[in-house]
Amino acid sequence: MTVILRNVRPWGEAASDVQIDDGVITALTPATSDAVIAGEAAPTGAVVVEGNGRILLPSFSDVHVHLDSNRIGLPFRPHTGAPGVWGMMLNDRKNWRDTEASVADRATACLGAMIERGTTRVRTYAQVDVDAGLERFEGVLAAREAHRNRADVEVIAFPQAGLLREAGSADVLEEALKLGADVVGGIDPCSLDRDPVKHLDIVFGLAEKYGVPLDIHLHEPDQLGLFSAQLILERTKALGMQGLVTISHGYGLADLPAAQLQELIDEFAALDISMATIAPAGQPLPLQQLAAAGVRVGLGQDGQRDYWSPYGNADMLDRTWQLAFTSRFRADELIEHCVAVATVGGASVLNPQAPRLASVADRPGLNAGDPAELVLVEGDTVTAAVMDRLPGRTVLHRGQVVADGLELV
Ligand SMILES: [Zn+2]
Repeated sequence: MTVILRNVRPWGEAASDVQIDDGVITALTPATSDAVIAGEAAPTGAVVVEGNGRILLPSFSDVHVHLDSNRIGLPFRPHTGAPGVWGMMLNDRKNWRDTEASVADRATACLGAMIERGTTRVRTYAQVDVDAGLERFEGVLAAREAHRNRADVEVIAFPQAGLLREAGSADVLEEALKLGADVVGGIDPCSLDRDPVKHLDIVFGLAEKYGVPLDIHLHEPDQLGLFSAQLILERTKALGMQGLVTISHGYGLADLPAAQLQELIDEFAALDISMATIAPAGQPLPLQQLAAAGVRVGLGQDGQRDYWSPYGNADMLDRTWQLAFTSRFRADELIEHCVAVATVGGASVLNPQAPRLASVADRPGLNAGDPAELVLVEGDTVTAAVMDRLPGRTVLHRGQVVADGLELV
């Protein structure tokens, strides 16, 4: 199966034609004229996709999204959550069952909207706890199945309510892993469960038992966040889980003195611990420092218009703008780096063997041999595309067009 993307600008560079065979980029050549492409240049039977001079990027990788809680497309409702993780969790628990649509329908609709906007690689949470049991997990699995030919989706069994506050929480988590969850989640071992050793021993134990990666939400501030991070480092090293642990948020990094921050980043690099950010206000990750140390970083949308927050709209290009904005970036190179984080950066979080960003200037993902996980966007330059976020997008997964003009194909 051969596809030719005609007249596209990889990473905003010179116009090229890109050949894709069996889902892999096989050749990039200077863009051909209409006459040549209509004649013998295109391999017989090739599908030609007209780029019309648009920018070609690797598709987006949303590595931190809660598909099970979103309300994308449903009537807007006022925010009712109390502050703090526990207060928000209780607000969600009070409301999710009465939502206008089922978890499966909401997750399927949201994932579809994400694909339409250019995301084909996803790592989503599914909350498992004594209230929801496996209902939300099963809803997310249904969404993955509905879009199985349009995106690759990893599902994290996520103990949003902690593991130690309610009896039976760890059992439900393990049940989800038995049913095939791809990743085990953890959350704020000090501030939520108030017993970091016990919490981390449970989640690392499950990761080892089921041979899955681990992703830990870490909202904890300053020295508390550092303390939890050090316990995570100890266990990653002891269990030989290099490359398999992701710290999400890591808000505390923004509070640390410079020397402690650099030391922690160096330890992340040494144990190949990756990070996922949602581009929060006020506590940006030090993206340049992380890139310089070789730490894998990805971007995600977190909850989207849900019982936790009204933000999020299924568009990773919007969230890329937010990453640049909250990082206070203006230089084109740094804004383009945000695009690299949102695309191939996230892909390397999902797969530590995938190409990773070597520096803030690195723009991999569009060379011969790379998977044809691609998105075409409108814009004079990559930075302009981030600023304008125009609708003329075409999305390819495994070399096939799966969405065009913000609609699934
Ligand atoms: Zn989250």
